[in-house]
Amino acid sequence: MMNLKDELKGLKSVAVSGHIRPDGDCVGSTMAVYLYLRKNMPDIDTHIYLEKPADIFDVIKDIDKIEPAEDVDREFDAFICIDCSKDRLGAAEKIFDKAKKTINIDHHITNSGDGDVNYIDADASSASELVYDVLDKDKLDIEIAKALYIGIIHDTGVLQYSCVSPKTLVTTSELIKYGFDFPALIHSTFYEKTYLQSQILGRALLESFLMLDGKVSVSCVDRKMMEFYQVEPYDLDGIVNQLRYIRGVEVSIFMYQLATMEYKVSLRAGGKVDVSKIAAKFGGGGHIRAAGCTMRGSFYDAVNNIAAEIEAQLK
Ligand code: AMP
Ligand code: MN
Ligand code: MN
Repeated sequence: MMNLKDELKGLKSVAVSGHIRPDGDCVGSTMAVYLYLRKNMPDIDTHIYLEKPADIFDVIKDIDKIEPAEDVDREFDAFICIDCSKDRLGAAEKIFDKAKKTINIDHHITNSGDGDVNYIDADASSASELVYDVLDKDKLDIEIAKALYIGIIHDTGVLQYSCVSPKTLVTTSELIKYGFDFPALIHSTFYEKTYLQSQILGRALLESFLMLDGKVSVSCVDRKMMEFYQVEPYDLDGIVNQLRYIRGVEVSIFMYQLATMEYKVSLRAGGKVDVSKIAAKFGGGGHIRAAGCTMRGSFYDAVNNIAAEIEAQLK
């Protein structure tokens, strides 16, 4: 197994980053590595590059140290890419390409490893669980533990999805020993929604429809609706899960509009259909039960193309 400290020994500069539109696992895992390096390897000039995370992650220490990658033109001794393959880094991809050494830590089944050094395990619940593996346990603290805990909680739906293993629970158990207020973290970062977030969830459910004998649920939020409710993409988190909780539904499809004829697609499945394969077919990726991609064309074309793939797998 990789040990992060050994990989970075003697280096002067390190960049840490994760995927575009960072989710809880991405923010938690990258921030944990950032905090760990600042605390334990203070001689390294460590930077963290991400798109601005949602306000709910303000509970993570030093979250304000996150920098945008857009204008960075620098050669780092090492680049650590977490929770994605290099092609989902967005503006940070160019920093990855310039770095002398690249490290990739990820749990996506569609990632075969883009780094000079890779720690990829598609059976892991989250990138945060893998980050815990590569850190020295006696060099953690409550803030690092909290960041990793948030990451695990978010990618496992509070320890309920099938990606949870005995190891996930052992890791989580070690993390809560640090004594942070975990019920408060679960509430404020996972369950709590603003009024507008709740309203758009309701609207998306009202306007949803079923396909393939009720095995597929579909909903979409367009730009006009997002402007009306004054919401950003991260305000739509959780809608795709709610669509999957409908009895009889095997796969839920949720889309929101990125631009004219361009949609971000989220897929969730109950186990009978591998949505990572479907997302990969349309240029995206993910996990067997949770995957995503971006599609061009009309909403109905996108739905029909995905539904055809689901139908083929259900046969
Ligand atoms: P989402 O539906 O965006 O919450 O994503 C579900 C899962 O699929 C997450 O693990 C994402 O990291 C992954 N995923 C989403 N979009 C993509 C994409 N375009 N390429 C690769 N993986 C993706
Ligand atoms: Mn992620
Ligand atoms: Mn993840």
